[in-house]
Amino acid sequence: MSFRREEMEMREKINALIDGYRDEFVQTLQEWVRVPSVKEEPAEGAPFGPGISRMMKLAGATAEKMGFRVRFFDGYACDATLGDRPEVLGVLGHLDVVPVGDGWRKDPFGAEIENGRIYGRGTNDDKGPTLAAMFAMKALKEAGVPLKRSIRLIMGGDEECDWECMHYYAEHAEMPEIGFSPDASFPLINTEKGMLGFEVRFPAAAEGLKILRMATGERPNVIAGECRALLEGGKELAEQVRSYAEETGLDYRAEVTDEGVWVTAAGISGHSAYPEGKRSAIGMMLKLLKALGAQGGIATLADAVGLESDGKSLGCACEDEVSGPLTNNMGILRLEQGEWIGTLDFRCPVEADQEQLKEACAAHLPGIQVKVTTQKAPHHVPADSELVSSLLAAYEEESGLPGEAQSTGGGTYAKVLKQGVAFGAVFPGEEELAHLANEYESIDSLMLAMKIYANALLRLCADL
Ligand SMILES: [Zn+2]
Repeated sequence: MSFRREEMEMREKINALIDGYRDEFVQTLQEWVRVPSVKEEPAEGAPFGPGISRMMKLAGATAEKMGFRVRFFDGYACDATLGDRPEVLGVLGHLDVVPVGDGWRKDPFGAEIENGRIYGRGTNDDKGPTLAAMFAMKALKEAGVPLKRSIRLIMGGDEECDWECMHYYAEHAEMPEIGFSPDASFPLINTEKGMLGFEVRFPAAAEGLKILRMATGERPNVIAGECRALLEGGKELAEQVRSYAEETGLDYRAEVTDEGVWVTAAGISGHSAYPEGKRSAIGMMLKLLKALGAQGGIATLADAVGLESDGKSLGCACEDEVSGPLTNNMGILRLEQGEWIGTLDFRCPVEADQEQLKEACAAHLPGIQVKVTTQKAPHHVPADSELVSSLLAAYEEESGLPGEAQSTGGGTYAKVLKQGVAFGAVFPGEEELAHLANEYESIDSLMLAMKIYANALLRLCADL
């Protein structure tokens, strides 16, 4: 999809404008990053606390200064519109940030610049990309692009927690049907797997190995990096653990104490949607416990889940071309007053039959109570749609890199829109620093993202 001559000329005009925005963009982003917009207790007119409220006012003011029509939605969200066409293309970003966490070498709200990078919480997720999209709109406005679709940047204040911002917005404004969210990575994500969450419960077995204590995991969507259990026994049992570790080549340790034997399984932690290269410490522990003689539900789980992340022994393994394989994770398993409670987190291919998966899962866990706690439909926008092909063409043209639509097991903001995809702004090969210490964004990358967004808006919204 190459541009006609009119579009080529407009693109050049826009990119020249964008080159001139660099200093203004960086200064504005620094102002944005210096507002610690972390969710706090609600206050009057500030449903997510004072920081996010301040940030929303600032973002609205930035958009007003650029000449967009700005609306505020009671501290939940705000939007900025260019054009007055009835059909609207939505761009969805967010202004809240996750808490700082440990390990920072720079002021997380300092917006310090070093070696062409701007450091701070939100530089990458998602203030940098959101502001880049706003500046792309500014370029179209200043270049005088006639529009066939209006462009509306919708900025939420609660993406990192409960998406209350978008629920409120959808109730109080008309949600565009089509659009993209600059809140993930390039080239583009057009497929989000469905989700099935289960809670499993079963009584501690009266026979076999006696497990005295175990409580691992706080969130179903995290692959446990470490699992500890206290077992009844002494030296002999610790020796058995050591030989099992040797036999399997896995990292288990045993320590004999007055209480019994404390056993530790060391896995490789990660997000449940991306199990490749990870190892669940809970899965490791299940295997070990069964080998040591555990019976009942623990033995069943060791066989049906164990170290698998593809749901195979649960009778649930499946895949399709657009989404890849199903993934599964047992993120929580704990013993509470004689009862075991655990979670399973399935990310299901678009074409998978979720009802069938529920049945298969329950059927493969005899003696275990299985309850569905989460069920979310998958989201998919066809690769040959106008939206996906235009965005990928814009990406290829500005970056010179090959564009290909991708699938994720995670959730993106884009699925708020009927025809929504995630588009940028992390480039292939760049560090994924969202939610981590020392989050930064390369200024060159953000300027390139800005050109890609402007190019995309030109393709999808210009009337040339
Ligand atoms: Zn984000």
